[in-house]
Amino acid sequence: MDRVRDIEQFIEEVPPIQIHLTRLITQRGHCPHCGWVRTTHPMQMSLSSGCAKVQLGPMALALAADLKHRIGLTYRKLCSVLRLLGLSVSAGGLAQALARVARKLSCGNKTDAGRCTWQILSSLATTCSQRTHPFTGLVAAAMPLSAPLPSLPAVKG
Ligand SMILES: [Zn+2]
Repeated sequence: MDRVRDIEQFIEEVPPIQIHLTRLITQRGHCPHCGWVRTTHPMQMSLSSGCAKVQLGPMALALAADLKHRIGLTYRKLCSVLRLLGLSVSAGGLAQALARVARKLSCGNKTDAGRCTWQILSSLATTCSQRTHPFTGLVAAAMPLSAPLPSLPAVKG
C-alpha cells in the first residue's frame, strides 16, 4: 500500500452526569437579648429548611433560568430536562425558585412574583445575549445567599 495518510477524528461526549450534593450545617439558637438568631454559610442558597431544605445550586438555577427564559421551555419540559440531569424538582418548585432568581437579579426588588419573573429574566437573558455576556454565569454568580447584589445590564421596560 502506498500514499498512506492518517485520518484524524474526534468524538465529543457529555461528561457522566453525577449530582454534586453539598451538605451544609448552620446553627440556630436563642439569645436572651436578640431572640432567635442563626448562623449562615457562604454557599447557602436560602434560609429555608424543613421541606425546602434541598435547594438547587447556583449552576442548576442558572441552567433552569436559561432553559426557561432564553430557550423558552415550559415548566414541564424544564422538569424533564432537569430530571435527565438527576435533579428531582417539581414545576411548582421551579416556578418559586425562578421567582427568587428574578427577585435577586432585580436587586431585591420585591415585585409581584409570578407576573414579573418572566419579564425580568427574559429581559436579562436578552440583554446578556445582545452583549454576549453569559446569562448562566450571571445568574450563578448572583444566587448564593452571601453573593452581593449583582451589577447588571439595565432591565428594560
Ligand atoms: Zn444577642
